[in-house]
Amino acid sequence: MRKNIVAGNWKMNLNYADAQSLMYQLLEYKKNNQTNCEVYIAPPSLYLTKAKDIFENGEIGIFAQDVSEYQSGAYTGELSVDMLSSININGSLVSHSERRLYHGETDSHANRKIKNLLDKNLTPIYCNGENLDQRKNGDYLEVVGNQTKTALFTLSAEEIKKVVIAYEPVWAIGTGETATAEQAQEVHAFIRDLIANQYGKEVADEISILYGGSVKPENAKEIFSMPDVDGGLIGGAALKIEDFSKIIEGF
Ligand code: PEP
Repeated sequence: MRKNIVAGNWKMNLNYADAQSLMYQLLEYKKNNQTNCEVYIAPPSLYLTKAKDIFENGEIGIFAQDVSEYQSGAYTGELSVDMLSSININGSLVSHSERRLYHGETDSHANRKIKNLLDKNLTPIYCNGENLDQRKNGDYLEVVGNQTKTALFTLSAEEIKKVVIAYEPVWAIGTGETATAEQAQEVHAFIRDLIANQYGKEVADEISILYGGSVKPENAKEIFSMPDVDGGLIGGAALKIEDFSKIIEGF
């Protein structure tokens, strides 16, 4: 059975005091509420060790927002998989659309990062999705298909099963414009079929595919109710406990 997951991407937000305060609120929430999904957060890397201390019993999965494609060495500013592993981080987002847009990341980079993470038993949350022009031109399935193949199809069946995919149409990220539940379902089912054709249905059925793009308390339940949507990657609405907890309760 694949997992239902709600993951918060904090991006470059919150100072240290505010980040700790949100972590303690989340810990309190997790202690007092039974959730029907796994909950992850991806805080800024500077706060990862603190997050591991606060969630010392693994109440919430702690993820980096990015990881290097290289193992170690002269790569100023980068974090390696070994470093994340050495403080028991659960995994990392890979190729979020903002990394693609502002840092020139491609699916070939994603492929190398994903392989590195899996080699150390860390979970990649691989992000893909089309931009507005590609949606309007009707090319979106082809775009997402090519992204998925390049980033993932060199993996073995055992490896790909451990990847979490986040379909995040770029036109819906941080814009307030959300894909409809049907639009999300169409692409999620397409990704799952693509994986089933390559690796078999059993493998495809084990992979959690999250939707990301302006998920809010008001729309989470409907989006999560779709058969191939296994949760959400949440940006803005992950920064307030009131909103994030209501999204978690969408399951
Ligand atoms: C994201 O950054 O992954 C995201 C989905 O952002 P938002 O929820 O703010 O659109």
